[in-house]
This record gives sequence, structure tokens and C-alpha cells, in this order.
Amino acid sequence: KFAEPAAAAERMRELMEDRAQTAREELLLKDGRIIDRYSAPIMGPDGKYYGRVWYFRDITERKTSEARILGLNRVYAVLSGINALIVHVHDRDELFREACRVTVEAGAFKMAWIGLVDMAAGYIRPVASAGNVGDFFEVAPPEVFEIGETTIGRAGRAVRNMKPEVSNDFGKGKQKLMRKGLEDRGIHSFAIIPLIVGDKAIGVFALYSARAGYFDEEEMRLLQNLAGDISFAIDHIEKQDKLNYLAFYDELTGLANRNLFLDRVAQYIRSAKSRKSRLAVALIDLERFKNINDSLGRQVGDALLKQVADWLTLSVGDAGLLARLEADHFALVLPQEKLGGDAKEFLKQLMESLLDHPFRLNDDVFRIAAKLGVALFPDNGTEAETLFRNAEAALKKTKTSGERYLFYTQQMTETVAVKLTLENQLRQALDREEFVLHYQPKINLESGEITGAEALIRWNDPNTGLVPPSRFIPILEETGLIYDVGRWALRQAVKDYLRWQAAGLPAVRVAVNVSPLQLRNGDFISDIEQVIGVDAKAAAGLELEITESVIMEDIKHSISLLSALRTMGITVAIDDFGTGFSSLSYLAKLPVDNLKIDRSFIIEMNNGSGGLELVTTIINLAHSLKLKVIAEGVETEEQLRLLRQLNCEEMQGYFFSAPVSADIFEKKFLLARS
Ligand code: C2E
Ligand code: MG
Ligand code: MG
Repeated sequence: KFAEPAAAAERMRELMEDRAQTAREELLLKDGRIIDRYSAPIMGPDGKYYGRVWYFRDITERKTSEARILGLNRVYAVLSGINALIVHVHDRDELFREACRVTVEAGAFKMAWIGLVDMAAGYIRPVASAGNVGDFFEVAPPEVFEIGETTIGRAGRAVRNMKPEVSNDFGKGKQKLMRKGLEDRGIHSFAIIPLIVGDKAIGVFALYSARAGYFDEEEMRLLQNLAGDISFAIDHIEKQDKLNYLAFYDELTGLANRNLFLDRVAQYIRSAKSRKSRLAVALIDLERFKNINDSLGRQVGDALLKQVADWLTLSVGDAGLLARLEADHFALVLPQEKLGGDAKEFLKQLMESLLDHPFRLNDDVFRIAAKLGVALFPDNGTEAETLFRNAEAALKKTKTSGERYLFYTQQMTETVAVKLTLENQLRQALDREEFVLHYQPKINLESGEITGAEALIRWNDPNTGLVPPSRFIPILEETGLIYDVGRWALRQAVKDYLRWQAAGLPAVRVAVNVSPLQLRNGDFISDIEQVIGVDAKAAAGLELEITESVIMEDIKHSISLLSALRTMGITVAIDDFGTGFSSLSYLAKLPVDNLKIDRSFIIEMNNGSGGLELVTTIINLAHSLKLKVIAEGVETEEQLRLLRQLNCEEMQGYFFSAPVSADIFEKKFLLARS
């Protein structure tokens, strides 16, 4: 119809562009190519139908690269999910379970499992899995898990060579083991990545995909990072287990520490209550220990402490009744059976035989005397803490009274009285406006500019000068004064902010710390509304710092509270992050803006204890959740340098400035900047 080829081509182009007329279909050819097929009717100028035009285009490349990007994005999602896990999971089993779950969910894998190497048995033991597993572990032939030289299993090879194994294309007949079983599960490729801790493969991470050829080079690079992160977490948890031991036991003597001792005392109290019997808590302070330590050296001192621990264990017949508290302080809990009829007599004998016992150090014989303070249940208290405190008071008294041992009496504790007067003083302090806010600047790490300030309360005691918050906030909380003082702090901070703004100074946001009690109080939101109600600009200048543990206590309530605050235009930060036990799945849901990494992590960052990795992980996690990160307590240039490298946004700490009075803050930082 169209004699001129050029005209025909032109006409065809017109037809193709008339989308209403064209039909489009994507075809998958047998050889794996993907084709885009258009067709359209050819209508002549006379309006008659002359046939159809077909147009084919090979889009294989575009399609695979799209799929790859999708795949890579998924792996990134998995990576950040796993990173988040590492910070918050403290138990290996949970880590493995969650790692598999996150991988399958975020990475859209068909299934995933983690196995641990059992070298003695020559076998990889699956410990966690997720996805479409079904009876995989029951029907899989033993080779799948074997490690031996002769196995054809990919997992075993990955462990032996400490390199990933990929089976990308079953079609070429390379996949022998379980090929049908895998295809029945819709699986067309898989990768097995060794988990390496130290220089050993301790397990494998196995991932299964529906798409043949899924595991290309880039994908594998990311997945290897991921396996590296899991390995890091395993290592970290192992170290943590050791720390847990240290959290309950004294490393030197192997006796319980104070925490565990108090737990045990509480246990003994419960059984004494039910049997209506008595018990004693005794604290022992060795005399002259400091002399021995100083003159003979620390090693000899340590050896003596061990000998005393052994002697005490032998004397009371049960290490479970003993603890070492600090240096040369030991504690004893003695149930009725041990005490016999007369507690006084028992303890007197114990002290005498201690004095009689020859301790040998450096070929010399030493006699060790001790002082002892005792509190009895139920006479001197019905709770572990109280008994302990009262025994402490009795021990203290022996030092001034010259007595070798003393039983607790009421007069020994003045602490209650002290607290009472402190409470009164704090009430007065509020009335007399003796509280002040100091400000510590927050610095943007990139620009070096001040971007905000944290308001930190102090009590300007007319008798003793500035008192730090750690000394009075617990009492404010105990007595409920915190509500009034907290409200004062909020109002004062907003007032300072608005004053600076009105004076044309840089409007840096002020952050106020909020006590858990304030947060749990039903009036909190209306309090805040009042505070920011004074000026339309107030909300934008206010940030609230809330500690992690508080938020996690009641997640539902926290979420609604935090959203309410943010709706008002207030910024919210999680304070002391890393010290609580956040649950990963909730962290992502929390409506917060900023995350402050606790000082303890910053300290650990450059002492080679794995702290750097932890901070890296926290920062990556925060960024993946779109949070801004502020490092607390930065004291050295080295810390600053590391944080900058990690793309931490802001820092706060003595390295730049300690908290200073509002006046100084204004002159030194705000005026200077403006
Ligand atoms: P926080 O919110 O974690 O505040 C940071 C603390 O670290 C402050 O102690 C600050 O002076 C200190 N700090 C800052 N940089 C460094 C550094 O480089 N090295 C070291 N070693 N310390 C640094 P501060 O002022 O004694 O406050 C202690 C805690 O008292 C605060 O911890 C906060 O939880 C609480 N607090 C302070 N003001 C208020 C308040 O108005 N209301 C309530 N509820 N709590 C407050
Ligand atoms: Mg704070
Ligand atoms: Mg903090």
C-alpha cells in the first residue's frame, strides 16, 4: 500500500505511537530473553483494515538490571535490619532466629537458615530458619550438612574453604543435591555464606531465592557484609556473656558480688518468713588490709583476699552465703540453722577464729583482724536492702566506737533524718528560686556550628554552692517534687530561648530532660501545652530528651505521647541510647527525631574493646531509621575524629564545652556566632 519504504516506516511509527490502538505484551522466551511485543492494526487512508504491524524489542537487559536493583535494595534493607538486631539482641538463639526472619521478610528470599559447625561430629547443625522451610530439614540428605573432605554438600565446602558457595543456575545441571526438592519449593538459586569469627568458620548462613542467577557479584558482596555483621554479633554476645558473669560475681575470689548477694538475701528472707525463723546479714571489713596492699604490693594483697575468701567459705560451709563487695569488704548471710541459738555467740567465735588463723604470704605468717556490722531479720528490717544498709551503718559505727563487732540499733541511721532535711531544703529551693539551668552546646560535626543546647539543672545551694542533679533528682522524684521542678525547668528553658530569639541571637533549639515520672503523669501533655502556649515560636525551639528505658517500658503509651508532642512541633530525642533494651521492631515505629548515644559507648570507642563497631552499628541503624545522631560526652579529639568519619551529625561534650550558665552561654556562644 505504501510504495515508499520511508513513508511506510513513518506510518508504522505513527501507528505505534497511537497507544490506544496498540497492544503490548511481555514475553519470556525459552532461552531466557525477555521481549516486549507491540502490535497495532494497519488501517489504510480509505478506512479499511489491511493487516497488523508487529514490533519486537529485546528488554532482557533492562529487566534484569531492574530486578537487580530491587534485589540490592532489599539486601540493604536486610543489612540495616540486622545491624539493628546486633545492638539489641543479647542472646544467640534470638539473634539467629531474628536474622533469618529479617532476611526472609525484608530480602524476599524463599527461605534462610543458619547452622553452627560441630567440628567433632563433622556436621553443621541447623539452629534457626525462616520462610518456606516445610520439611526441608527432615528430607534433606545428610550431605547437605556434612563438612568432611569428601562431601559434595555446599555448606560443608563453604565451611572448609571459608568462602561462600553459590548455586546460581540449577538448569545447567550443576545442582545435584536436592535439586527437585528445591525446585518444588520454588527455589532456583541459593548461596551459602560462612560465618567467620576470629579465623574460624563457626557456622553458615544459607539463603534461597526464587530467581535463577540472583546471586551476582554485587549481591554477594552485600551478603558477605551481612554475614560479617552476624559474625560480629556472635562475637559480641560471647563477650557479653563474660560481662554477665562479671555482673554477678567477683572475678578475684569467685564469690558473689553485691547484686547477686542481695538477690540471695532476698531469697533467704522469703524462706525465713515462711518458717518464721531469723537470719543475720553481716558485713566484714578487714583491718590493716590497706597497709599490706601498700607495703607488699597488689599481688600479695590479692592473694590474701583469696585466702580470706577460702577461709570464710570453709568456716560457714557454703560459698553461697558469702560475697565480696569491694576491696576488703565481705558480706555474709546467716540463716537460723547456721546461727544456732545465739547469733552473737556465733559471730564472736567466727571473729576469734579468724584472728587465730595463720595466713601465709611470701613465707610470712599474718594474723588478720576484722570489724563486723550485723543486722537481724526481722528485728532490723524485712527487706534485703534495708538489712544490708543497716549492717553497713553498724559497721561504720564500729570504726568510731572501737568495738570489734556491733549489732544494728535504731540510732545508727541518721540517713532518714538527712533525707528529710534535704527534702525540706529542696522545697525551699523551689520557692526561693535557687534552681538554675546551665547550657551545654551541641555542635554540628560538619560545619562546627552550634546547633542546639542541652539545659541541665543545678541547685545553687546558698550554703554549699552548685549541687549537681545526680544528688537531688532522685529525691525530687521520691517526693514528687519533680513535677513542680520539671515544670519550672521547661518554662525557664523556653523563656531563655525566646529571650535569645527576641535579641536577634541565633535561634538554637534548647533540649530539656524529662523525668520518667513527668512522662507517666496524666497531666504531662497539658503541662507542655501551657509551656509552649506562651509564644507561637516556642514549640520550634523546644526539644525533649527522654531516656530510652522509659520509652520502652510502655511502648503503646510512648508512641501516642511522642506523636502528640511532635504534632505540637516539639522535637523529641532518645537520651542515653544503648543503655536500655530497646526492641528492634518498636524502635522503627517510635516517632522520634534524634538519638543520643550514651557516653559509655563513646568512651569505649577507642580503647579497642569493640566499642567502635558498636557505635558504627548504632549510627548506621539510626540513619536507616532516618534519625539524627548526637554523641554524648565527647572528651577527646580522637573521639571527634572517629565520629566525624562515621557521619555522626552532632556532638556534645567537654571537648567543646562543659555546661555553662545561661549568661556565659549567651556571651560565649550565641553572641559569638551572630
Ligand atoms: P544527661 O541528660 O545524659 O546529661 C548529660 C550529662 O553528661 C550532664 O551531666 C553533663 O554535664 C554530662 N556531660 C556532658 N559532657 C560530658 C563529658 O564530656 N564528659 C563527662 N564526663 N560528662 C559530660 P549533669 O549535668 O550532671 O546531668 C546528669 C543527668 O541529670 C542528666 O543526664 C539528666 O538525666 C539529669 N538532668 C539534668 N537536668 C535535668 C532536668 O532538668 N530534669 C530532669 N528530669 N533531669 C535532669
Ligand atoms: Mg540529656
Ligand atoms: Mg544522656
